[in-house]
Amino acid sequence: MTLNHTHDSTARSWVASANQAGTDFPIQNLPFAVFKPKSAPAHDWRAGIAIGKEVLDLPALATTGLLQGLALQAAQAGAADALNPIMALGQPAWHALRHAVFALLKDDAATGVQAQVQTCLHPQADVVFNLPARVGDYTDFYTSIHHATNIGKLFRPDNPLLPNYTWVPIGYHGRSSSLQVSGSDVRRPNGQTMPPGATAPAFGPCKRLDWEVELGVLVGTGNTLGEPITIDRAEDHVFGICLLNDWSARDIQAWEYQPLGPFLSKNFGTTLSPWVVTLEALAPFRTAMERPDGKWDDLPYLSHDTNRQQGALDIQLSIGIATEGMRQAGQPAHMVSQTSYRHAYWTMAQMVTHHTVNGCNLQPGDLLGSGTLSGPQPAQAGALIELTQGGKLPVTLADGSQRTFLQDGDEVVMRGWCEAPGAARIGFGECRAIILPAIAI
Ligand code: MN
Repeated sequence: MTLNHTHDSTARSWVASANQAGTDFPIQNLPFAVFKPKSAPAHDWRAGIAIGKEVLDLPALATTGLLQGLALQAAQAGAADALNPIMALGQPAWHALRHAVFALLKDDAATGVQAQVQTCLHPQADVVFNLPARVGDYTDFYTSIHHATNIGKLFRPDNPLLPNYTWVPIGYHGRSSSLQVSGSDVRRPNGQTMPPGATAPAFGPCKRLDWEVELGVLVGTGNTLGEPITIDRAEDHVFGICLLNDWSARDIQAWEYQPLGPFLSKNFGTTLSPWVVTLEALAPFRTAMERPDGKWDDLPYLSHDTNRQQGALDIQLSIGIATEGMRQAGQPAHMVSQTSYRHAYWTMAQMVTHHTVNGCNLQPGDLLGSGTLSGPQPAQAGALIELTQGGKLPVTLADGSQRTFLQDGDEVVMRGWCEAPGAARIGFGECRAIILPAIAI
C-alpha cells in the first residue's frame, strides 16, 4: 500500500475538531463504525466514518448526490447493521470511498458541499455503537513471542517456548457469539478450577480474571473453500483493524487447557472497539518485521520480501484500570502497560495465509485476533498475569489500591494510536468494559 494525498500530514478538515492536536480522528484516519443516533429507533443502525468529534452517516451521504461510482456503491452498502456489505465490496471500493470522503471533508471543499455534508454529521457524543461486523468466525492467534515465552514460563518453567512456535502461527478457534462492543459490561465467569495441592476441582467465580491486549484483524473479501490465499495477496483481503480485549479466566484456563487449548476460560466475552481503521490509513506506520531470535527461514508459503520489510505495523497500545472509586472521583484510568503491534513475531499477512493454506475459507467480517501483544520489556506486558508475574507482584493504582487480577467494578480501558515522523497521528479510540460480579449458581 503506497502513500497518497490522503496521508498528507498538512491536510486539514473544515470540521474543526478534526484539526485539534491529539485527536484520534484527523482527516488522514477516516475509520469505519456502525452506529445510530441515541434518538433513532432501536436497530436503526448504519455505517459511519469518524471525523474529529463527529461521525459521518454514510447512507445519508449516499443520498446527497455528492458521491459517484464505487464510492457511492460503498456508501449505499452502509445501510446495514454491520460493515459486512462494505467489506464484501473489496479494496477498490474502500479506497474509492476513502478518497471521496477525504475530498468532501477537506478544508478546500466548496461551501455548498460543506453545507450538504454537514447535514450528514452527528456528534459522536450523541450516538451509540454496534459491533462493527457480523462476525461469522473468530480465530485468536498467538503472534507475540514475548507473550508466548512469558506465559510459557508460568505454565511450564522448564519448557517455556514450545518448538513449533517459530514455525507455525499458532491459533485456536474462538467464539463469535460473545463478542461485544466497547462499553458493554462483562460478567465474571463461574467455572472449574484446580486449587494448588487439591485432589478434586473447585467450582465458583473466577478468581484470576485478566485481560489480553490484542488487535482484531477484520477480513474484507474472503476466499473460496479449497483455494488458499497466497502471502503476496493476503493483505488485499483485510478490511481493517480494531482494538480487541480477549478476557481470560486464568484459573479456569490453567485447569482446562490441556490438551485442546482454551475453551470456557475465553469464550465468556471478547470486547471490540467500535472503530475499524483501514489498512490504507495505516500505510504510514508500516515497519519491518522484528525477530528477536534472528530466525528468518519461514517455510516458503509464509515468506515474502515485502512482508518482511514492511509487513509489521507500529500500532501503539495502552491499557489501564479505573476502579469504581476512581470513576466516582472523576479520575481517569490508571495506565499500567504500554506496548506495540510492531513486536509481533507473525504478521497479519502471515495470519491470513496460514489460516487458508489448508483450503479453509475466510468470509467477509471474519475476525482474526493477533494474540496478546506483549513487547520485550516487562512494562510492555499485554496481560495482568505477565505484569504481576502470575499474581505475585501487585500493581498499585492512582487511588492507592492494588491489583493482581481484576475485581468486580473495575473498568478496563484500552487505547491504540499510531505516530511516525512526517505522518499525522491517528488513533483507534477506546475499547472499555466494566466487570460485573459472577452470577450465583
Ligand atoms: Mn488471546
